[in-house]
Amino acid sequence: MTSHIRRATKIVATLGPASSNPALLEKMIATGVNVVRLNFSHGKAKDHEERAAMVREASRRAGREVAIMADLQGPKIRVGSFSQGRVMLQAGRPFALDAARETPGDLEAVGLDYKELPQDVHTGDTLLLNDGLIVLRVQAIEGSVVHTEVVIGGELSDHKGINRQGGGLTAPALTAKDMDDIKTAMGFQADYVAVSFPKNATDMEMARQLCNVAGAAWRHKPGLIAKIERAEAVPRLEEILRASDGIMVARGDLAVEVGNAAVPALQKKMIRMAREMDKVVITATQMMESMITNPVPTRAEVSDVANAVLDGTDAVMLSAETAAGKYPLETVEQMARICAAAEAAEDDERDSDFGGTTLGRVDQSIAMGALFTAHHLGAKAIVAMTDSGSTALWMSRRRIHIPIYALTPKIATQRKMAIYRNVRPLLMDTSADRDTALAQAEVQLKERNIVRTGDLYAITCGEPMGQPGGTNMLKICRVR
Ligand code: PGA
Ligand code: MN
Repeated sequence: MTSHIRRATKIVATLGPASSNPALLEKMIATGVNVVRLNFSHGKAKDHEERAAMVREASRRAGREVAIMADLQGPKIRVGSFSQGRVMLQAGRPFALDAARETPGDLEAVGLDYKELPQDVHTGDTLLLNDGLIVLRVQAIEGSVVHTEVVIGGELSDHKGINRQGGGLTAPALTAKDMDDIKTAMGFQADYVAVSFPKNATDMEMARQLCNVAGAAWRHKPGLIAKIERAEAVPRLEEILRASDGIMVARGDLAVEVGNAAVPALQKKMIRMAREMDKVVITATQMMESMITNPVPTRAEVSDVANAVLDGTDAVMLSAETAAGKYPLETVEQMARICAAAEAAEDDERDSDFGGTTLGRVDQSIAMGALFTAHHLGAKAIVAMTDSGSTALWMSRRRIHIPIYALTPKIATQRKMAIYRNVRPLLMDTSADRDTALAQAEVQLKERNIVRTGDLYAITCGEPMGQPGGTNMLKICRVR
């Protein structure tokens, strides 16, 4: 167990057949999982409902609240099926993608799940199938048929994905299935909803509206994560960020569309922009890929996770490693250790000056004031009493080594904050008057061995208490 290791970077783990087991899930949470991802590309509504209940129960037993992220499938831009289930495509041979074909595919041609493909592509385009393993060049479009030449061959099986190099496929980000899945996810109050393949801010605004309507019965508003995995989303990053609560660097599909060599630099840019705009960011896909079958990661995977931490990501994500791998618990344990070691090696002085920041809001200024003061006085902890979690979010956008403890009376806020880097969310009833609440906070901090007699900590709150956006007070306390 590595739960005692101090770690600021959060871990998102995908639930799947390999991890849908109450006892294992409890161990995974105790070992380091902060966010559980339910992948709506697989399974029925009932499966997700059962899994969500299992997560809540496992997190209760592990003594740590986790966030649930519902990851929508998005548009299926895929080929149809083959009569033999698969074909072996040879380089140099012709191969046709036919939107009108009803019969199963063969070596010459295959049907399409995505019927709009012939309207979206042009002669000379490069199409990438099966995560880019197969490359086709478009030779001509004739009605419903896209004629191609196989550039790189290989095995193509039923319903494999299609990407166009450079992007440009017009499928809308939210399908009818996604809309149903949003209702399912709001039924169990998913803390985050991840939208697959958004092209622009409008896609995210539409998803938010659907979530808020579906969540209204529970007065639940999830955080929205835009998965950046289309070429056209890259130049629109700023507007997408503005319309979202966070982004995922979805390196799987993104690499296929923009070319894998472009992805490392994009990852750094996306992480920087997200933090600057007070949004969260998840780095995803193939981080510990070899641990699907091996008990230890490769050196390259260790470096990849560590570098995402050094880039400033809030969270690193596990997909098949925990959903379908042989070593889900070991993967989480190793990942937690890599994160902690990378953080320990970070420059301590980084981002502790805040001189260049302009702040027009009282609550934001108090949040920055707490960081500044805590840093210069060598405080052991920064404590935010927060209703919506915003104060903790602002504090966590700065890279500082002092841990931030976020005390909130709302369990939904506690869960939402589970993904914020360097924030430890705690539940506390703050309905009492200010001085009582401050005293209660100190009792909690001492009970949890966060601070000891003689230690300094900085604490922020709003007066009167319990008003969202009301933070207006900073107090520096020495523990008695
Ligand atoms: P996926 O998204 O795992 O749902 O495809 C992540 C990615 O494309 O990297
Ligand atoms: Mn994807």
